[in-house]
Amino acid sequence: MKRYVIALDEGTTSVRAGVYDVEKGIFIHRAQQEVGQSYPKSGWVEQDANEIYYKVMYVLNDCVQSVGAGNVAGIGIANQRETVVCWNRETGEPVCPAIVWQCRRTGKFCASISAEMRKKIKDKTGLLPDAYFSASKIKWNLENIPEAKKLQEEGRLCVGTVESFIIFRLTGRFLTDYTNASRTMLFDIRKMQWDQELCTFFGIPLDILPEPVPSDARFGTTRFGGKEIPVAGVLGDQQAALFGQVCHREGEGKITYGTGLFMLFHTGEKCIFSDSGLLTTVGYTLNGKTYYALEGSAFNAGSAVQWLRDGLGIIKSSEESEEFACSVSDTGGVSFVPAFTGLGAPHWNSEARGLLTGISRGTTRAHIIRAVLESIAFSARDLADCMIRDSGICLREIKCDGGASANSFLMQFQADVLGIAVNRPKERESTLLGVALLSAASLGILAPEDLADKRISEKIFVPSLERKKYEELYANYLLAIKRALLNE
Ligand code: ADP
Repeated sequence: MKRYVIALDEGTTSVRAGVYDVEKGIFIHRAQQEVGQSYPKSGWVEQDANEIYYKVMYVLNDCVQSVGAGNVAGIGIANQRETVVCWNRETGEPVCPAIVWQCRRTGKFCASISAEMRKKIKDKTGLLPDAYFSASKIKWNLENIPEAKKLQEEGRLCVGTVESFIIFRLTGRFLTDYTNASRTMLFDIRKMQWDQELCTFFGIPLDILPEPVPSDARFGTTRFGGKEIPVAGVLGDQQAALFGQVCHREGEGKITYGTGLFMLFHTGEKCIFSDSGLLTTVGYTLNGKTYYALEGSAFNAGSAVQWLRDGLGIIKSSEESEEFACSVSDTGGVSFVPAFTGLGAPHWNSEARGLLTGISRGTTRAHIIRAVLESIAFSARDLADCMIRDSGICLREIKCDGGASANSFLMQFQADVLGIAVNRPKERESTLLGVALLSAASLGILAPEDLADKRISEKIFVPSLERKKYEELYANYLLAIKRALLNE
């Protein structure tokens, strides 16, 4: 039996791929290529879809060659979500730059959407209308790129998120998976189909969109080294991380500590809508069942550590923050609010700015560094509280990943402040692992009951029994948040 699956992670700044040995449960080879971005106007972010595709081919070729095409059972794809590509159905050539998820060019339009329509959008898609999601980006292309409009009128335009472009170029099929579709703001996440009313509202004809299929479907075949290789298993990157962290049961959640912080919370087969401004999203589909997740993010996490390093210059490397934080027993009364670019759920204030309070003559840089790390854990607590409250589901355990999850002080403090164990895996590239596992399950080379064994814990951070102490610390942080909100 072919035992290798190639997992692709098409991220915003880099494209990575790994060869996963299903029997051994490890990646035996990896490849990576950086991808450029351009910023043609203030707030605009674009990418060249051809560059993405060439780099995807480069890393896939590298991985296929490392084991030989004949030994590859299939390819799974995870990708940056929401980013929109328009291409010619006949040639596969992009007709304009890809509009990246971060791009704010449609912000004004999204802000003008009526309250009634906003409610409809939330009820159908689980999303809060924003320029972040794909719908308004597609509308922008149809209104501003004459070539796109012309091709659309001639029935020769394809529009989709990045995975659908990659699948099209690899296999010739025009498909997307449910998790990516659920980030477009055009997809009914209960009926699992494009919503006609929303498409009409955004001026998007249904025939330019890909066919949505379950994440664990077969997406066609591609050729490498003269061999046909199936493409099987496709997920948005955050959902892939949820899957790779084996959060496969209701109440299991993962937090990615990168530049920002992303939390996804598995709510089982229930599609739960949040009152706190969290998003409802399709987690994944497996064997005919769809599982949902609540999603929340904090804009700043690792970026606050970068600020200590590059802005204040009080640490030389991000890693050093751990040593300083551990050198003091507390923050000496210092509180930090990492609101560099406003505050997300549940505070939702784009005007709030960062705050450092409680400084005395005895305050040292170690106190400030510790306060910054603690603030990251507190913002995750904010999100976790909303998820538990909105869903009525207990949070069993948190699985962590991302650059800052390497910081053991932060992970221990996170467990303490949540009162829940934080479980750090050996394989930190959860996105790659997630899509490798889904692909292997889809190809039938990994039984669903064996999936959980493929995630190996490196360390479990057990919460302290001193609940009162940590609740008081969290209450202090909430006071600092109140002050940050007054600053606006
Ligand atoms: P992204 O994918 O968002 O670029 P990564 O997952 O690569 O982010 O994580 C990078 C972030 O993690 C940086 O902001 C960095 O400051 C932070 N980071 C990395 N190592 C540590 C550490 N040991 N302690 C705290 N923060 C860290």
